[in-house]
Amino acid sequence: MSAAKRAPKKSAKTTVKTPAKTAPAKTPPAPEAYMFDVDGTLILSDRALGGYTLLPGAVETLEELSRRGVPYVAFTNGSAYPPPEQAAKLRKIGLPVADDQMLTPSSVAADMMTRRGVKSALVLGSPGVGWCLEQAGIATRFTGDDGAEETDAVYVGWHPDCGMKDIEQACNAIWNGAELYCASDVPFFATSAGRSMGYSHAIVAAIRKMTGAKMLLTGKPSIQALRFIARRLGVPATRVGVVGDDPACEILMARRGGATGYGVTTGYYKAKDWKVQPADRQPHRLLSGVGELLKTRSRRSA
Ligand SMILES: [Mg+2]
Repeated sequence: MSAAKRAPKKSAKTTVKTPAKTAPAKTPPAPEAYMFDVDGTLILSDRALGGYTLLPGAVETLEELSRRGVPYVAFTNGSAYPPPEQAAKLRKIGLPVADDQMLTPSSVAADMMTRRGVKSALVLGSPGVGWCLEQAGIATRFTGDDGAEETDAVYVGWHPDCGMKDIEQACNAIWNGAELYCASDVPFFATSAGRSMGYSHAIVAAIRKMTGAKMLLTGKPSIQALRFIARRLGVPATRVGVVGDDPACEILMARRGGATGYGVTTGYYKAKDWKVQPADRQPHRLLSGVGELLKTRSRRSA
């Protein structure tokens, strides 16, 4: 009789414990602030990155967040332009993005380098790529400059004109002790003409093939980028809603940092492509476009 009494007690204990162990909070808390990807999410660029086309709902969504007092930033993995220049381009087509709401991998690179004591960097990129580093007081060098191979860091960004001399100087700097930073390790991004090659991905592959150097990624999907974004938004990383068109970029970053990932089908990945992504690249919500975000938000908070 006492055994019969003990048995239910034991099983009751087990049933209480099991759900607590197997049902961790998989759904992050509702976002308090948002990060928007740019290409494929808010706009489509042409291949030369000169002409922009607005995507439906982009302006309205940012305007509504402003009206509600919800913080947001735009974060592009494109490093071609200094953030204020990029923000001005977006404002010109109607997107409410202030200079300090525009972030690029170079913003993160400047922050990471400062924290790691980097004083000088060899920049493999177009002139705008080094702007954030200079603003942070880091001396920038370009290929052919005096001291190009004696820097503390090599920073690879948007560099359509990269040649072997650039790669050679970067390798020499690394063999002399420089750390390797990369703005974007994404092979492709969405443009109005279809997919376009991410140059820094290819350049860093060549440098690493030669040197075996470890790469410090500053753009999405690095967790450093998400932490930087969260600090800028003034909320914990788990309270950031990350909106983007690339599963391996925005959504992987959101999943890594416990944020909420919203995938959109206005870029290179269509609904059928999202469906076949692995678990760590599956958005918490899939939207047909950025204009659907606030509908989702009001459903969640209702
Ligand atoms: Mg994109």
